[in-house]
Amino acid sequence: MSHLVVVALGGNAILKANQTGNFEEQLANVYETSGPIVSLLRQGYQVVVTHGNGPQVGNILIQNEEASKVVPAMPLDVCGAESQGLIGYMIQQALGNELKRAGLDRPVVSLVTQVLVDPADPAFQKPTKPIGPFYTEKRAQRLMAERGFKMVEDAGRGWRRVVASPEPMAIVEGPAIKALVAAGALVVASGGGGIPVVARDGRLEGVEAVIDKDLAAMRLAADLDAETLLILTDVQGVAVNYGKPNQEFLKALTPAEGRAYMAEGHFKSGSMKPKVEAALRFVESSSDGRRRAVIGSLDQAALAAKGQAGTLVRA
Ligand code: ADP
Ligand code: MG
Repeated sequence: MSHLVVVALGGNAILKANQTGNFEEQLANVYETSGPIVSLLRQGYQVVVTHGNGPQVGNILIQNEEASKVVPAMPLDVCGAESQGLIGYMIQQALGNELKRAGLDRPVVSLVTQVLVDPADPAFQKPTKPIGPFYTEKRAQRLMAERGFKMVEDAGRGWRRVVASPEPMAIVEGPAIKALVAAGALVVASGGGGIPVVARDGRLEGVEAVIDKDLAAMRLAADLDAETLLILTDVQGVAVNYGKPNQEFLKALTPAEGRAYMAEGHFKSGSMKPKVEAALRFVESSSDGRRRAVIGSLDQAALAAKGQAGTLVRA
């Protein structure tokens, strides 16, 4: 079997911070991300794509809240599933068209993906991940009383819901993804970190939480026994002293070096830290030293997969 690369795309690659979020903009962005993925396939890699959903699920939550007097608001796990469908549809169409144009006709399939989390995960004790719109204090009080939301005041910008961000334990649809990959499909899976589910008496049910997309990508790559975890974002790689005059982008990193830099606080939580954590864990989980991870920019994907751009993490 050929070399399998799990590619993680940032949510901002599909909806940029300064854009309105209309469909045309998002689809144009997805067409832009298709080029680098086509180039990976041209090089003979097998590819599974995963992606963030922050901006998209944020908008879905606003639609649900604003229309809740007319149509019942859906729970967070359902909103996550909707965002997987929205983004997966755009990727299926855009990437499918671009592959055909490149003479690489193969099916692109996106999968609504559940990710198992532990109901005893300590993250459920102290929810920290802000999601969705900002509210007035009055509305926030009502949502806390009526819907049991946990809400916090966010630096004068208003009130915002916070949820737990538990560890991804297993990709529920992992075996199905493997079968699709083996059949030659380009699979899009575990979007937005996947839909968090817990097992109670052997049955799965959704929970109100969000899983970090970089950690979920690591879980996906490990469960599929991929060779490479390729985390693509909007910077050229991992830097030490980021944003300071002595900032330095790293070409390569061993897990031990990464852990040491992490302890020194070089990576910002919520952005670069989860990427480095995901990359380190993926490489550390390798029993034969075969697994490697690269963190780099989307436009250098093909070089990054070969370890010639971005920051390469390997044992
Ligand atoms: P994505 O949507 O791809 O997950 P994030 O915004 O979460 O993107 O993470 C990428 C951002 O991490 C970069 O734009 C950069 O500003 C930030 N960052 C924080 N610390 C570092 C670091 N040490 N090296 C490189 N980038 C860093
Ligand atoms: Mg991120």
